[in-house]
Amino acid sequence: MPAMKELVKGVDRYKHFIGGQWVESTVKEWIDVENPATEAVIASVPNGGADDADRALVAARAAQPAWEALPPATRGQYLRDLARLILENRERLARIVVAEQGKPIQEARGEIEGAALYLTYAAEEARRITGDIIPSDMPDEQIWIQRVAHGVVVGLTAWNYPAALMCRKMGPALIAGNTIVIKSHEGTPLSALEIAQLTVQADFPPGVVNVVSGTGENLGAALVRHPIPRLITLTGSVRAGKEIFRSAADDLKLLRLELGGKAPFVVAEDADIGAAVRAAVLSRFENCGQICICNERMYVHRRIAGEFTERFVAAVEALKVGDPTLLVDVGPKFSRPELEKVERMVERATSSGAEVLTGGGRMAGEAFSKGHWFQPTVLSVEDNQMAIMQDEVFGPVVPIMKVDDFDEGLRLANESRYGLSAYVFTKDMRRMMRLVRELKFGEIYVNRPGGDAVHAHHAGIRDSGIGGEDGKYGLDAYFQKKTIYVNYA
Ligand code: NAD
Repeated sequence: MPAMKELVKGVDRYKHFIGGQWVESTVKEWIDVENPATEAVIASVPNGGADDADRALVAARAAQPAWEALPPATRGQYLRDLARLILENRERLARIVVAEQGKPIQEARGEIEGAALYLTYAAEEARRITGDIIPSDMPDEQIWIQRVAHGVVVGLTAWNYPAALMCRKMGPALIAGNTIVIKSHEGTPLSALEIAQLTVQADFPPGVVNVVSGTGENLGAALVRHPIPRLITLTGSVRAGKEIFRSAADDLKLLRLELGGKAPFVVAEDADIGAAVRAAVLSRFENCGQICICNERMYVHRRIAGEFTERFVAAVEALKVGDPTLLVDVGPKFSRPELEKVERMVERATSSGAEVLTGGGRMAGEAFSKGHWFQPTVLSVEDNQMAIMQDEVFGPVVPIMKVDDFDEGLRLANESRYGLSAYVFTKDMRRMMRLVRELKFGEIYVNRPGGDAVHAHHAGIRDSGIGGEDGKYGLDAYFQKKTIYVNYA
């Protein structure tokens, strides 16, 4: 089989993975992949186009009937084998994630373990692909409702968790009997291509998994527009979600759109302040603030705001920012446009009255002369309508606002066009029950930092998307229902 990459002028140039083979793109253009910490070009990938989309989807379609015909437990065994290989290659894959995405190495190791877990969880579901048998209103008749595969799935993933997001989609898609074409974000394509290579080692039938590289605008749009895929699953921005929604309308394709967030973090007057500070720091600064469920805006009861803010700012100032290949807390932003976006948001906030409590700009000094570094930043604000309180930052910046009581905290938390996740710290049972009832978010963390379970459900409402992933509800999206009326009179 042709090699997955070749060395061109000292840089690895990858190919597409289509039909179990490493193939050249028909478009002879390449995208440079940059290390966010050093700005060095670490590899290049094809800037794929419509022909590549077509080849990958045709290969996926050809492989699908035989894949669906396998017993689910056999499909599960392939997923387990792949998960084992991913774990055997944990360190190598984690270092690739650090190089292409910039998260600290210990977080990247966690991402690779998470990627394997998505696959083993999906494999566990193999023996629970059940349907219904229901009585008919007619004599001598039964009605069966089966869950069957859609056919071909397209998975489009964001740059913040390139390996984990691929497996979060691939696991349930494949166990349900679909085949898949994955396109990672063009800035972070490498870990997905490396995992594709592991499917060869795991002896996957050709065409079951296909991984192509290119921009969202060209290749992504071509995959969405193509008549073959029945289900498009995107993890990405609201902008992309809306574009895909429009483009998928022509063929009435099914969509799962896992989009952005603007999680509120409400701290009640009775909260355990130490625990709330620790959770607020972790939930904001992990992965340099680039997680859809990150703590994006804080509402702290006026009575404890002084102590909370002092301890929070001290904890933020203690974060170690630096080379993500070492044990640090915060790495670089993923890209120059992302860095500049965060910088603009902070400038706009301060010019509209926000006060900088710590940070506020780019990291200074020789160690940060290359790369996309922003200081961990805390702002104090008084107006919930400011852009910094309403728009997703997706970076190491968090605004704090004092509130007069729990009701105000809840009300302001709900004043958002996003609806993915929310955090609350309170020890009061009545408050806890109220927030569970009244907070309009898909995922609520009470008295703990963020981090979702592979067997739970991760779903946003409003601008945060339509769909949801993980657990039995996430898996169900990868099936369609087929109803059969059996008359045996
Ligand atoms: P993005 O929308 O720019 O890209 C996501 C993917 O979609 C990429 O592969 C991209 O190439 C592709 N794409 C973009 N436009 C497209 C189009 N018109 N047609 C087809 N494909 C297209 O998003 P991003 O910058 O990679 O990711 C950051 C966003 O993702 C943040 O808003 C973050 O909150 C969100 N996110 C959400 C979740 C979740 O589970 N809800 C998880 C991680 C990230």
